[in-house]
Amino acid sequence: MASSRRASAIDRGRSRKLYALMSAALHLDPDRFLPSEPAARAIARRLFDSVEKTPILSPHGHTDPAWFAYDQAFEDPVSLLLWPDHYLLRMLYSQGLALERFGLRPSDAGEVETDRRVIWRRFAEAYRLFRGTPSRLWLDHVFAEVFGLDVRLGPDTADHYYDAITAALARPEFRPRALFERFGIEALATTEGAVDGLEHHRAIEASGWPGRVITTFRPDDVTDPAREDFKYNLARLGALTSEDATRWSGYLAALATRRATFRQHGATATDHGHPTARTANLSKVEAQALLDRFLRGRAEAGDAELFRAQMLTEMALMACDDGMVMQLHPGSWRNHNPVLLRRFGRDRGADIPTRTDYVGALKPLLDRVGEHPGFSLILFTLDETNYARELAPLAGCYPCLKLGPAWWFNDSPEGMLRFRRQTIETAGFYNTVGFNDDTRAFLSIPARHDLARRMDCAYLAELVATHRLDEDEAAELAPELAYGLAKAAYRL
Ligand SMILES: [Zn+2]
Repeated sequence: MASSRRASAIDRGRSRKLYALMSAALHLDPDRFLPSEPAARAIARRLFDSVEKTPILSPHGHTDPAWFAYDQAFEDPVSLLLWPDHYLLRMLYSQGLALERFGLRPSDAGEVETDRRVIWRRFAEAYRLFRGTPSRLWLDHVFAEVFGLDVRLGPDTADHYYDAITAALARPEFRPRALFERFGIEALATTEGAVDGLEHHRAIEASGWPGRVITTFRPDDVTDPAREDFKYNLARLGALTSEDATRWSGYLAALATRRATFRQHGATATDHGHPTARTANLSKVEAQALLDRFLRGRAEAGDAELFRAQMLTEMALMACDDGMVMQLHPGSWRNHNPVLLRRFGRDRGADIPTRTDYVGALKPLLDRVGEHPGFSLILFTLDETNYARELAPLAGCYPCLKLGPAWWFNDSPEGMLRFRRQTIETAGFYNTVGFNDDTRAFLSIPARHDLARRMDCAYLAELVATHRLDEDEAAELAPELAYGLAKAAYRL
């Protein structure tokens, strides 16, 4: 009798779950992403409880400082969640869906959908495409936690979502600064080019708002001579700093001045997005000759790569002087799809990882500054084959090298585990720098940190459950991975 009562209770539980599925409830399980094995799950849960509410440090990302400077309301779900998100656009495009139908204006004056509700309905219809991807996990977190939605996004709930999100965004508590505070963000770094005027950062400072939004110096606009606007940017760099940027010495002095200006606006780090990790060590005469070839339109094959390579070493030398932390994000073949680039421009999801060498590429830079006290270079990769072969051994040797977290396509539950499994045994936890959300999707920042903390606790729990680490040590590491390592590495 008792067992049949138990059985029918189980049946009722099952049918409730089934019903929930049929009505497409949106429910974030409190144990999501944690190990399914009960002993490891219990350990992971204890660890995660200790870091769930830890303040967020976002030391590298691409949010728009204008949001925090002027605190204007976001408009609607399409312009806030869909248009800026290259992960979403690339999936839609890869399935043969025309981006015009999602409101992206092509350069060839083709027809474009302008009704944002219609666009949102189309996105809701396509939402199934994101099953199994981190985009789905991040968005569901945004829908449930930021907007309090409790049904899943799909064709039948598209209008409900559109109305609920649009109405919420009109309320003061959904303005950028209020969200920043609600998200528990302690510091957030944006990224600006070397000739950016930093007006928005000045406006944030002048406003007296206490939120800590700092800039990051990303000089690719003046260190990559392959860019079509290189000469123009160089002229602007010279004008901004009253230096002659056509002379190698003036060019370097101008860059040092800009770094100082960025530091005045809170920057503690620089970032370098090069096609490769190659570095060089040219003499001043060779460097001036190289610059001259670009200024006179006489550059030869390999010159652009050599110029960028030399500039990484120059930036490292300046970092030794001014104490800024250097980040290197190499290995992305930008705008791989020429049709997509021509019709819809950059950042539409056509950037594809390439194979990347570090051991040989970084040697000239490391020979020059690798032992300089206080120099710090954080390495990222899109090429996971070098985690165990190159990156972990390098970081496990040079005091100046640290490993950035799983980046971009690897910023995912599986990607984070692959990163830990392939680097920690050689580099240890303390040669890594915690998590970067690296996003322009502001509302997804809590989702991304929540996911990273859960995956780190899952990994730590596995080490404890297999007796590779004691639980009190894992309990010490969990807040380091969530907060302490990023604060130290980025000198925040
Ligand atoms: Zn980035």
